[in-house]
Amino acid sequence: MRTPFIAGNWKMNLSVKEAVDFLHQLSGKLPDPSETETAIAASPLFLESMVENSGDMPLIVAAENCFYEDSGAYTGETSPLALAKMGVTHVIIGHSERRKYFKETDDIINKKVHAAFRNGLIPIVCCDETMSRRESPDRISWVVSQVTNALKGVTEDQARSIIVAYEPSWAIGSGNIASASEAEEGCYLIRQTIADLYSDDLANDVRVLYGGSVNDENAADILEQNDIDGVLAGGASLKPESFLNLANFL
Ligand code: PGA
Repeated sequence: MRTPFIAGNWKMNLSVKEAVDFLHQLSGKLPDPSETETAIAASPLFLESMVENSGDMPLIVAAENCFYEDSGAYTGETSPLALAKMGVTHVIIGHSERRKYFKETDDIINKKVHAAFRNGLIPIVCCDETMSRRESPDRISWVVSQVTNALKGVTEDQARSIIVAYEPSWAIGSGNIASASEAEEGCYLIRQTIADLYSDDLANDVRVLYGGSVNDENAADILEQNDIDGVLAGGASLKPESFLNLANFL
């Protein structure tokens, strides 16, 4: 069965020193990765220190983004090759804040997914849903097309390792978590799309997460759902106690 995956997304918060102090507070308290995998995605400013300071802790250090070229004259961008060389293993691709503030399109996101795989990084692909989309008749096709476009040209082996997060932007940072059934519906839709693109067997192996105002007090119902294999938590991942509560929930 699918191993639960609990991820924090620090976004543009904390400092290098705070990041390292945070990791020290996790020491000895994270679950066995054969039972629950835990990850923290952080700014590229901190990643090297985080990789060094996570030592043999069962913590996945992830990037929040990377560029779609491996290296070169791309001022200000984050090289997926350099991330991999640093010991980073996972990267969030296509977060709704990247789509909104940095105008990332499905095409760019697809190129980034390929760049991640090319460099041995596992992409955590985010699928957005705005409130206006949610209320519109093309809501389902919107989620389906984001997943389909993100996975264009992705091989079966690659697709099996990918993590996809249903991250409705109407729930992100709003304190307004989706109900368990709304979250399950979004994650089910993502899994069905993967089944249609590949196979039921492959879709059964892919981990699908929910993200949007999850914390250690409201995660229980969400984590019980059939198609939800974990969460991507922003605000609730900024305090070691609440991140640890989420990590040890299951
Ligand atoms: P939030 O963010 O938990 O603060 O709503 C979730 C996310 O953006 O991944």
